[in-house]
Amino acid sequence: MENIIPKLPETAKCKKCKARGEIRLPSHNTIFCRECFIRFCETAVSRAMEKFRIGNESELLVAVSGGKDSLAVWDLLNRLGYRTRGIHIDLGIENFSEASADAIADFASPRNLAWTRYSLKETFGWNVEEIRPRIRRSICSICGAIKRQMLNRLAMREGCQMLVSGHNLDDEAGRLLGNILRHRDQYVDKQYPYLPEIPGLMPAKVKPLYRLESHELRAYCRFSSIRPHSERCPLSRGATSHIVKEALEMIEERMPGTKRDFYFTYLKKRAAPVFEGGDIGVCRECGEPAYQDTCGVCTVRAQLLAGRKSKEPEAGDA
Ligand code: AMP
Ligand code: ZN
Repeated sequence: MENIIPKLPETAKCKKCKARGEIRLPSHNTIFCRECFIRFCETAVSRAMEKFRIGNESELLVAVSGGKDSLAVWDLLNRLGYRTRGIHIDLGIENFSEASADAIADFASPRNLAWTRYSLKETFGWNVEEIRPRIRRSICSICGAIKRQMLNRLAMREGCQMLVSGHNLDDEAGRLLGNILRHRDQYVDKQYPYLPEIPGLMPAKVKPLYRLESHELRAYCRFSSIRPHSERCPLSRGATSHIVKEALEMIEERMPGTKRDFYFTYLKKRAAPVFEGGDIGVCRECGEPAYQDTCGVCTVRAQLLAGRKSKEPEAGDA
Protein backbone atom coordinates (compact mmCIF):
# COMPACT_ATOMS: atom_id res chain seq x y z
CA MET A 1 0.00 0.00 0.00
CA GLU A 2 1.34 3.44 -0.86
CA ASN A 3 2.06 5.97 1.89
CA ILE A 4 3.23 3.65 4.63
CA ILE A 5 2.36 4.87 8.13
CA PRO A 6 5.44 6.85 9.29
CA LYS A 7 7.30 5.04 12.06
CA LEU A 8 7.31 6.97 15.35
CA PRO A 9 10.30 7.04 17.70
CA GLU A 10 10.39 4.35 20.43
CA THR A 11 9.72 7.03 23.04
CA ALA A 12 6.42 8.13 21.44
CA LYS A 13 3.51 7.39 23.77
CA CYS A 14 -0.22 7.06 23.18
CA LYS A 15 -1.83 10.21 24.59
CA LYS A 16 -4.71 8.12 25.90
CA CYS A 17 -3.21 5.06 27.58
CA LYS A 18 0.57 5.78 27.52
CA ALA A 19 1.31 2.56 25.63
CA ARG A 20 3.77 2.71 22.72
CA GLY A 21 2.50 5.30 20.21
CA GLU A 22 2.04 3.95 16.70
CA ILE A 23 0.26 6.69 14.78
CA ARG A 24 0.39 10.46 14.78
CA LEU A 25 -2.77 12.38 13.95
CA PRO A 26 -1.58 15.91 13.17
CA SER A 27 -5.06 17.38 12.73
CA HIS A 28 -5.95 16.24 16.27
CA ASN A 29 -2.48 17.06 17.57
CA THR A 30 -2.28 13.61 19.14
CA ILE A 31 -0.60 10.20 19.05
CA PHE A 32 -2.37 6.87 19.55
CA CYS A 33 -1.39 3.26 20.09
CA ARG A 34 -3.01 0.73 17.76
CA GLU A 35 -5.91 -0.18 20.08
CA CYS A 36 -6.78 3.42 20.98
CA PHE A 37 -6.60 4.36 17.29
CA ILE A 38 -9.05 1.61 16.32
CA ARG A 39 -11.37 2.77 19.09
CA PHE A 40 -11.03 6.34 17.77
CA CYS A 41 -12.20 5.14 14.32
CA GLU A 42 -15.11 3.21 15.84
CA THR A 43 -16.14 6.28 17.82
CA ALA A 44 -15.99 8.45 14.69
CA VAL A 45 -18.38 6.09 12.89
CA SER A 46 -20.73 5.58 15.82
CA ARG A 47 -20.94 9.36 16.35
CA ALA A 48 -21.82 9.77 12.68
CA MET A 49 -24.51 7.10 12.90
CA GLU A 50 -25.93 8.70 16.07
CA LYS A 51 -26.04 12.06 14.34
CA PHE A 52 -27.93 10.47 11.44
CA ARG A 53 -30.19 8.66 13.97
CA ILE A 54 -29.55 5.26 12.40
CA GLY A 55 -30.03 2.42 14.86
CA ASN A 56 -28.99 -1.23 14.61
CA GLU A 57 -32.43 -2.31 13.42
CA SER A 58 -32.08 -1.16 9.81
CA GLU A 59 -30.17 -3.22 7.29
CA LEU A 60 -27.49 -1.26 5.48
CA LEU A 61 -26.42 -1.81 1.90
CA VAL A 62 -22.73 -0.97 1.66
CA ALA A 63 -21.45 0.11 -1.76
CA VAL A 64 -18.03 -1.51 -1.94
CA SER A 65 -15.39 -0.72 -4.51
CA GLY A 66 -12.66 -2.93 -2.99
CA GLY A 67 -10.65 0.16 -1.98
CA LYS A 68 -9.58 1.02 1.56
CA ASP A 69 -12.50 3.31 2.40
CA SER A 70 -15.40 1.07 1.50
CA LEU A 71 -13.79 -1.98 3.12
CA ALA A 72 -13.04 0.06 6.25
CA VAL A 73 -16.61 1.38 6.53
CA TRP A 74 -17.99 -2.11 6.04
CA ASP A 75 -15.66 -3.49 8.72
CA LEU A 76 -16.42 -0.70 11.19
CA LEU A 77 -20.20 -1.00 10.79
CA ASN A 78 -19.91 -4.74 11.18
CA ARG A 79 -17.82 -4.35 14.37
CA LEU A 80 -20.38 -1.90 15.73
CA GLY A 81 -23.13 -4.49 15.30
CA TYR A 82 -24.95 -3.19 12.24
CA ARG A 83 -26.59 -5.61 9.81
CA THR A 84 -24.88 -5.09 6.49
CA ARG A 85 -24.79 -6.43 2.96
CA GLY A 86 -22.29 -5.46 0.27
CA ILE A 87 -23.01 -4.41 -3.28
CA HIS A 88 -20.34 -4.05 -5.95
CA ILE A 89 -20.48 -2.86 -9.54
CA ASP A 90 -18.06 -4.49 -11.92
CA LEU A 91 -17.10 -1.61 -14.21
CA GLY A 92 -15.23 -3.76 -16.71
CA ILE A 93 -11.84 -2.04 -16.41
CA GLU A 94 -9.12 -4.48 -17.38
CA ASN A 95 -7.11 -5.86 -14.40
CA PHE A 96 -8.48 -3.15 -12.09
CA SER A 97 -12.00 -4.62 -11.88
CA GLU A 98 -10.78 -8.18 -11.30
CA ALA A 99 -8.43 -7.02 -8.53
CA SER A 100 -11.25 -5.00 -6.93
CA ALA A 101 -13.56 -8.03 -6.79
CA ASP A 102 -10.74 -10.22 -5.41
CA ALA A 103 -10.10 -7.73 -2.59
CA ILE A 104 -13.82 -7.74 -1.69
CA ALA A 105 -13.99 -11.53 -1.72
CA ASP A 106 -10.86 -11.79 0.47
CA PHE A 107 -12.40 -9.38 2.95
CA ALA A 108 -15.97 -10.74 3.00
CA SER A 109 -15.44 -14.52 3.08
CA PRO A 110 -13.62 -14.87 6.43
CA ARG A 111 -16.12 -12.48 8.03
CA ASN A 112 -19.12 -14.28 6.56
CA LEU A 113 -20.44 -11.10 4.99
CA ALA A 114 -22.79 -11.36 2.02
CA TRP A 115 -22.27 -9.28 -1.11
CA THR A 116 -23.52 -9.17 -4.66
CA ARG A 117 -21.62 -8.24 -7.78
CA TYR A 118 -23.47 -6.62 -10.67
CA SER A 119 -21.94 -6.11 -14.08
CA LEU A 120 -22.20 -2.68 -15.70
CA LYS A 121 -22.03 -4.29 -19.13
CA GLU A 122 -24.98 -6.58 -18.40
CA THR A 123 -27.05 -3.89 -16.72
CA PHE A 124 -26.25 -0.87 -18.87
CA GLY A 125 -25.13 -2.47 -22.14
CA TRP A 126 -21.59 -1.04 -22.21
CA ASN A 127 -18.72 -1.22 -19.76
CA VAL A 128 -16.53 1.76 -18.83
CA GLU A 129 -13.77 0.86 -21.30
CA GLU A 130 -16.35 0.77 -24.08
CA ILE A 131 -17.98 4.05 -23.05
CA ARG A 132 -14.74 6.04 -22.80
CA PRO A 133 -13.76 6.28 -26.48
CA ARG A 134 -17.38 6.87 -27.56
CA ILE A 135 -18.25 9.89 -25.38
CA ARG A 136 -16.23 13.09 -25.24
CA ARG A 137 -17.05 14.06 -21.66
CA SER A 138 -14.77 13.08 -18.76
CA ILE A 139 -15.19 9.36 -18.08
CA CYS A 140 -15.08 9.94 -14.29
CA SER A 141 -18.24 12.03 -14.26
CA ILE A 142 -20.06 9.63 -16.59
CA CYS A 143 -18.94 6.58 -14.59
CA GLY A 144 -19.93 8.32 -11.33
CA ALA A 145 -23.42 9.15 -12.63
CA ILE A 146 -24.04 5.62 -13.94
CA LYS A 147 -22.72 4.05 -10.71
CA ARG A 148 -24.93 6.30 -8.58
CA GLN A 149 -28.02 5.46 -10.60
CA MET A 150 -27.30 1.73 -10.63
CA LEU A 151 -26.70 1.67 -6.88
CA ASN A 152 -29.94 3.61 -6.27
CA ARG A 153 -31.96 1.32 -8.43
CA LEU A 154 -30.44 -1.88 -7.03
CA ALA A 155 -30.92 -0.68 -3.44
CA MET A 156 -34.59 0.03 -4.16
CA ARG A 157 -34.98 -3.32 -5.88
CA GLU A 158 -33.37 -5.13 -2.94
CA GLY A 159 -35.76 -3.34 -0.58
CA CYS A 160 -32.92 -1.51 1.19
CA GLN A 161 -33.62 2.02 2.46
CA MET A 162 -30.04 2.89 3.41
CA LEU A 163 -27.15 3.01 1.00
CA VAL A 164 -23.75 3.46 2.63
CA SER A 165 -20.66 4.68 0.80
CA GLY A 166 -17.03 4.99 1.86
CA HIS A 167 -16.63 8.73 1.21
CA ASN A 168 -14.22 10.13 3.80
CA LEU A 169 -13.33 13.61 5.08
CA ASP A 170 -10.86 14.22 2.25
CA ASP A 171 -13.52 13.32 -0.34
CA GLU A 172 -16.14 15.55 1.25
CA ALA A 173 -13.85 18.50 1.91
CA GLY A 174 -12.41 18.17 -1.61
CA ARG A 175 -15.85 18.11 -3.15
CA LEU A 176 -16.92 21.16 -1.15
CA LEU A 177 -13.80 23.09 -2.17
CA GLY A 178 -14.24 22.05 -5.83
CA ASN A 179 -17.82 23.29 -5.84
CA ILE A 180 -16.93 26.56 -4.11
CA LEU A 181 -14.08 27.19 -6.57
CA ARG A 182 -16.52 26.88 -9.45
CA HIS A 183 -19.36 28.73 -7.70
CA ARG A 184 -21.65 25.74 -8.03
CA ASP A 185 -23.93 26.98 -5.28
CA GLN A 186 -26.69 24.50 -6.03
CA TYR A 187 -24.30 21.58 -5.29
CA VAL A 188 -22.78 23.30 -2.26
CA ASP A 189 -26.25 23.63 -0.76
CA LYS A 190 -27.01 19.93 -1.25
CA GLN A 191 -23.79 18.50 0.15
CA TYR A 192 -24.31 16.66 3.42
CA PRO A 193 -23.03 13.29 4.72
CA TYR A 194 -26.58 12.06 5.20
CA LEU A 195 -29.40 12.54 2.71
CA PRO A 196 -32.76 11.16 3.75
CA GLU A 197 -34.67 8.57 1.77
CA ILE A 198 -37.12 9.74 -0.89
CA PRO A 199 -39.74 7.01 -0.52
CA GLY A 200 -40.22 5.00 -3.69
CA LEU A 201 -37.46 6.87 -5.49
CA MET A 202 -34.17 6.87 -3.61
CA PRO A 203 -32.64 5.19 -0.56
CA ALA A 204 -31.07 7.33 2.16
CA LYS A 205 -27.43 8.11 1.32
CA VAL A 206 -25.16 7.58 4.30
CA LYS A 207 -21.47 8.52 4.61
CA PRO A 208 -20.35 7.28 8.02
CA LEU A 209 -16.66 8.05 7.34
CA TYR A 210 -17.06 11.82 6.94
CA ARG A 211 -15.15 12.41 10.19
CA LEU A 212 -12.12 10.30 9.20
CA GLU A 213 -9.25 11.28 6.92
CA SER A 214 -7.87 9.25 4.07
CA HIS A 215 -4.56 8.54 5.85
CA GLU A 216 -6.45 7.43 8.96
CA LEU A 217 -8.43 4.91 6.93
CA ARG A 218 -5.28 3.62 5.32
CA ALA A 219 -3.87 3.06 8.81
CA TYR A 220 -7.12 1.49 9.99
CA CYS A 221 -6.92 -1.11 7.21
CA ARG A 222 -3.27 -1.77 7.98
CA PHE A 223 -3.89 -2.22 11.73
CA SER A 224 -6.98 -4.41 11.11
CA SER A 225 -5.21 -6.61 8.54
CA ILE A 226 -7.59 -5.57 5.77
CA ARG A 227 -5.99 -5.79 2.37
CA PRO A 228 -7.80 -3.41 0.03
CA HIS A 229 -7.17 -3.01 -3.63
CA SER A 230 -4.68 -0.18 -3.41
CA GLU A 231 -4.57 1.01 -7.01
CA ARG A 232 -6.29 4.19 -8.09
CA CYS A 233 -8.56 3.65 -11.10
CA PRO A 234 -6.23 3.82 -14.15
CA LEU A 235 -8.82 5.83 -16.09
CA SER A 236 -9.08 8.59 -13.49
CA ARG A 237 -5.58 10.06 -13.97
CA GLY A 238 -5.70 13.85 -14.09
CA ALA A 239 -9.30 14.01 -12.80
CA THR A 240 -10.04 17.48 -11.41
CA SER A 241 -11.32 15.99 -8.15
CA HIS A 242 -7.82 14.57 -7.53
CA ILE A 243 -6.20 17.95 -8.23
CA VAL A 244 -8.43 19.75 -5.73
CA LYS A 245 -7.80 17.07 -3.09
CA GLU A 246 -4.05 17.32 -3.64
CA ALA A 247 -4.21 21.11 -3.19
CA LEU A 248 -6.15 20.64 0.04
CA GLU A 249 -3.60 18.09 1.21
CA MET A 250 -0.79 20.55 0.58
CA ILE A 251 -2.55 23.15 2.74
CA GLU A 252 -3.22 20.50 5.39
CA GLU A 253 0.45 19.55 5.57
CA ARG A 254 1.49 23.12 6.29
CA MET A 255 -1.55 23.97 8.41
CA PRO A 256 -2.77 20.77 10.14
CA GLY A 257 -6.46 20.73 10.97
CA THR A 258 -7.49 23.14 8.20
CA LYS A 259 -9.28 20.49 6.14
CA ARG A 260 -11.31 19.30 9.13
CA ASP A 261 -12.13 22.85 10.18
CA PHE A 262 -13.12 23.85 6.64
CA TYR A 263 -15.63 20.99 6.31
CA PHE A 264 -16.91 20.89 9.89
CA THR A 265 -17.54 24.63 10.01
CA TYR A 266 -19.54 24.26 6.81
CA LEU A 267 -21.60 21.45 8.42
CA LYS A 268 -22.17 23.47 11.58
CA LYS A 269 -23.63 26.30 9.57
CA ARG A 270 -26.18 23.90 8.11
CA ALA A 271 -29.05 23.24 10.47
CA ALA A 272 -30.12 19.94 8.92
CA PRO A 273 -29.66 17.93 5.76
CA VAL A 274 -31.41 19.43 2.77
CA PHE A 275 -34.25 17.27 1.57
CA GLU A 276 -32.90 16.17 -1.78
CA GLY A 277 -36.41 15.57 -3.07
CA GLY A 278 -37.20 19.30 -3.09
CA ASP A 279 -36.56 19.96 -6.77
CA ILE A 280 -36.14 16.42 -8.05
CA GLY A 281 -38.40 14.83 -10.64
CA VAL A 282 -38.20 11.62 -12.62
CA CYS A 283 -36.57 10.95 -15.96
CA ARG A 284 -39.16 10.60 -18.72
CA GLU A 285 -37.10 7.80 -20.31
CA CYS A 286 -36.22 5.55 -17.38
CA GLY A 287 -38.26 6.81 -14.40
CA GLU A 288 -35.15 7.29 -12.23
CA PRO A 289 -34.65 10.45 -10.17
CA ALA A 290 -33.61 13.39 -12.36
CA TYR A 291 -33.30 17.17 -12.12
CA GLN A 292 -34.16 17.62 -15.80
CA ASP A 293 -36.63 15.91 -18.16
CA THR A 294 -34.07 13.27 -19.05
CA CYS A 295 -31.45 11.97 -16.61
CA GLY A 296 -27.72 12.15 -17.35
CA VAL A 297 -27.50 8.40 -17.78
CA CYS A 298 -30.21 8.30 -20.45
CA THR A 299 -28.43 11.14 -22.27
CA VAL A 300 -25.25 9.05 -22.33
CA ARG A 301 -27.20 5.97 -23.43
CA ALA A 302 -28.79 7.94 -26.30
CA GLN A 303 -25.34 9.10 -27.47
CA LEU A 304 -23.99 5.56 -27.33
CA LEU A 305 -26.97 4.24 -29.29
CA ALA A 306 -26.64 7.02 -31.89
CA GLY A 307 -22.95 6.16 -32.30
CA ARG A 308 -23.79 2.51 -32.75
CA LYS A 309 -26.43 3.35 -35.37
CA SER A 310 -24.12 5.64 -37.35
CA LYS A 311 -21.62 2.78 -37.67
CA GLU A 312 -24.22 0.37 -39.11
CA PRO A 313 -24.27 0.17 -42.93
CA GLU A 314 -27.22 2.07 -44.46
CA ALA A 315 -29.80 -0.04 -46.26
CA GLY A 316 -28.80 -0.23 -49.92
CA ASP A 317 -25.07 0.31 -49.20
CA ALA A 318 -22.90 -1.86 -51.40
P1 AMP B 1 -14.96 6.91 -5.55
O1 AMP B 1 -15.95 7.78 -6.22
O2 AMP B 1 -14.31 5.90 -6.44
O3 AMP B 1 -14.01 7.64 -4.66
O4 AMP B 1 -15.82 6.01 -4.56
C1 AMP B 1 -16.57 6.55 -3.52
C2 AMP B 1 -17.45 5.47 -2.92
O5 AMP B 1 -18.36 4.97 -3.90
C3 AMP B 1 -16.68 4.25 -2.44
O6 AMP B 1 -16.16 4.42 -1.15
C4 AMP B 1 -17.74 3.19 -2.51
O7 AMP B 1 -18.58 3.24 -1.38
C5 AMP B 1 -18.56 3.58 -3.74
N1 AMP B 1 -18.08 2.89 -4.95
C6 AMP B 1 -17.10 3.29 -5.81
N2 AMP B 1 -16.94 2.40 -6.81
C7 AMP B 1 -17.84 1.41 -6.60
C8 AMP B 1 -18.17 0.19 -7.29
N3 AMP B 1 -17.52 -0.16 -8.41
N4 AMP B 1 -19.15 -0.58 -6.79
C9 AMP B 1 -19.81 -0.21 -5.67
N5 AMP B 1 -19.54 0.91 -4.98
C10 AMP B 1 -18.57 1.71 -5.42
ZN1 ZN C 1 -33.09 8.25 -17.36
